[in-house]
Amino acid sequence: MRRTHFIGTLAAGVAIAATGARARAYAVRHTEAQWRRILGNRYYILRENGTEPAFSSPLIAETRPGIYRCAGCATTLFTSRMKYDSGDGWPSFTTVLPHTTLTRMDYEIPGEPRTEVHCATCGGHLGHIFNDGPPPLHLRYCIDGLALVFVPAKVRR
Ligand SMILES: [Zn+2]
Repeated sequence: MRRTHFIGTLAAGVAIAATGARARAYAVRHTEAQWRRILGNRYYILRENGTEPAFSSPLIAETRPGIYRCAGCATTLFTSRMKYDSGDGWPSFTTVLPHTTLTRMDYEIPGEPRTEVHCATCGGHLGHIFNDGPPPLHLRYCIDGLALVFVPAKVRR
């Protein structure tokens, strides 16, 4: 009986999560099986709201001029001019290109509601936004490096 109840609860939870993910018709859509194949080790971050370990992303140390694209759909989200070294262990940005992202509240940590940021084109989970960034905006886009692809600017010689 307990087992049945657990499975029932789990199935309901999955159904709710699936409904939420499909609530918005994103411009770039794939089945979960396709997303798994396309994203590989990025799937957990972008499609399951995962967080990579702190200080694990090579993009933290990236200082070259260029753009940062969504790893799910290649939409340009950030430029190198928006990036700064927050020391928090993840690539950090002061702002984001307009109309490229959506936010929603994340209550995963009890008593600590956070603002989650998603790609507006594919719905991919990117990270969180905090209000302890540098002036003038005081925002810190704390973004998983695995959610991003860096494209260096072409250097003219
Ligand atoms: Zn995307």
